[in-house]
Amino acid sequence: MEPAVPVSYYSKSNGNHEHDDIIDWFENACENAGHVQTQTLRQILQLNYGVEYLKKWFGEQRDNLNIQNMDACALESLFTSTVPLASHADLDPYIQRIADGDKAPLLTQQPITTLSLSSGTTDGRQKYVPFTGHSAQTTLQIFRLAAAYRSRVYPIREGGRILELIYSSKQFKTKGGLATGTATTHYFASQEFKIKQEKTKSFTCSPEEVISSGDYKQSNYCHLLLGLFFSNQVEFITSTFAYSIVQAFSTFEEQWQELCNDIREGTLSPRINIPEMREAVLEIISPNPSLASKIEGCCQELQNLDWCGLISRLWPNAKYVYSIMTGSMQHYLKKLRHYAGELPLVSADYGSTESWIGVNVDPHLPPENVTFAVVPTFSYYEFIPLYRQKEDYHSAIDDFIEDKPVPLSHVKLGQQYEIVLTTFTGLYRYRLGDVVEVAGFHKGTPKLNFVCRRKLILTVNIDKNTEKDLQLVVERGSQLLSKAGVELVDFTSHADIANQPGHYIIYWEIKGEVEEQVLSECCREMDASFVDHGYVVSRKTNSIGPLELCIVETGTFTKILDYFIGNGAAMSQFKTPRCTSNQVILRILNVCTIKRVYSIAYG
Ligand code: AMP
Repeated sequence: MEPAVPVSYYSKSNGNHEHDDIIDWFENACENAGHVQTQTLRQILQLNYGVEYLKKWFGEQRDNLNIQNMDACALESLFTSTVPLASHADLDPYIQRIADGDKAPLLTQQPITTLSLSSGTTDGRQKYVPFTGHSAQTTLQIFRLAAAYRSRVYPIREGGRILELIYSSKQFKTKGGLATGTATTHYFASQEFKIKQEKTKSFTCSPEEVISSGDYKQSNYCHLLLGLFFSNQVEFITSTFAYSIVQAFSTFEEQWQELCNDIREGTLSPRINIPEMREAVLEIISPNPSLASKIEGCCQELQNLDWCGLISRLWPNAKYVYSIMTGSMQHYLKKLRHYAGELPLVSADYGSTESWIGVNVDPHLPPENVTFAVVPTFSYYEFIPLYRQKEDYHSAIDDFIEDKPVPLSHVKLGQQYEIVLTTFTGLYRYRLGDVVEVAGFHKGTPKLNFVCRRKLILTVNIDKNTEKDLQLVVERGSQLLSKAGVELVDFTSHADIANQPGHYIIYWEIKGEVEEQVLSECCREMDASFVDHGYVVSRKTNSIGPLELCIVETGTFTKILDYFIGNGAAMSQFKTPRCTSNQVILRILNVCTIKRVYSIAYG
């Protein structure tokens, strides 16, 4: 399906008119979101009716179905009563056959020629998900839509540029010859992206050779170099996830002199050894001694300020910083604010490799308050209501009782749900595993608050703590660290059940010197901050041992990033796993542990 939307993207001319068109289109769709959803389901079924997966469930009935003329409610209830809820494991055998080269219509009528690798950093396991032209089109659409909403709050100048810190990873071939890679990589390789780049050629700082080099360290250097070269023209700075912006600027702290030298001389550091990228960058830059001296002067001052306000100083015309800053990215907000100075942080949209879901229609809101208005044309969405057993707000997600899934038009304000997707790419009633809360409505479509991944759970016995629970606990502990003037760079955790009693381990990478006494206090504070009933009871009876806090050496989390990138993850899609049982990651963490403290006293 290709909904009729205008073709602008970060548009340069007639900007307001084109922005208004796409917003009008979206608001119309939202006005009738329930109806649009049933039409979306109808289109998905019409297109893929008769594929092996659906045949399995519809069986004989299939021959007598008239999807085109069926009443919308009847179609919805026939679909949800006939096709069961599914997890990735249920669809995996079909996806494997596609990967092995089976061209029969298994999940979609159109053959699937590309498979995306979901980042795998959320639950530690990489999964193949079908990617089609529809995936690239919706990516482009949500980017245009979000740009239109942003331009109402933060208009950007004609002829301005964007510093886009984006990186694609390598594409591989499956046994059956299908291209695989991350969704962002496929998007950057897609026709849709190429056309957009062509149209907005002078708009982004980096050429395609930099984005698609496959070596994120080299790409990053060139992004920064070109971003500085065009610094006066840059209107905003962006990356998919906040993590990559923080990572890019912490590298900048080490590379600024080399970058200034390249700007002064119009040269390119020998650390860039990919010929196509060298050539493309050298074609753009030319010697600019006065700019180099200006940047150098700024950096010398910034160094004394611990690089506070780096972005607003070096990019004086930038209006904002833009990326996903919610969920597991929330941890990087503090550092991002530090780098951004007075520039506003604008949180980007909500989606997954499986499907885009919602757009940020309130770009003026701080990332902590951002919600996502569901785009009702992208997929058919269902919502599994989750009810807490206890009053306690912090109780673990597995204390939830599930109810029957409801369609988008039946969701209720304040209610939490797990999202279920039926997509144009061959996923039917697929449990995404994300927990969201309905925070409001935009016309007739719900505005969702991302709560957490459902599966990321620390558990030893009867205790269960989610990513969100862990985040709250770590925030409490790290407040003591901040008081001591030390920064928490990154964190993860592991439930150690190899020794009895089992216990939780939290790994911290910190910046700055701190006494062991302070770390012990942080550890005690975190242990006492887990409010999950199962954990509290188990700690009191010692069926869960003292919390262990391990301090890892500087650069450990970069090693973890390198491990994921080496396994095909893309920098653009990387999310530090907040809880892991991956043996390679645990080995890295344990080898790099330089200090260990325990929370001996409890309660
Ligand atoms: P991936 O498996 O790489 O496609 O990652 C998709 C997952 O990233 C989603 O299912 C969410 O858990 C998370 N995610 C994506 N966008 C956001 C967002 N705006 N806020 C919070 N989490 C997000």
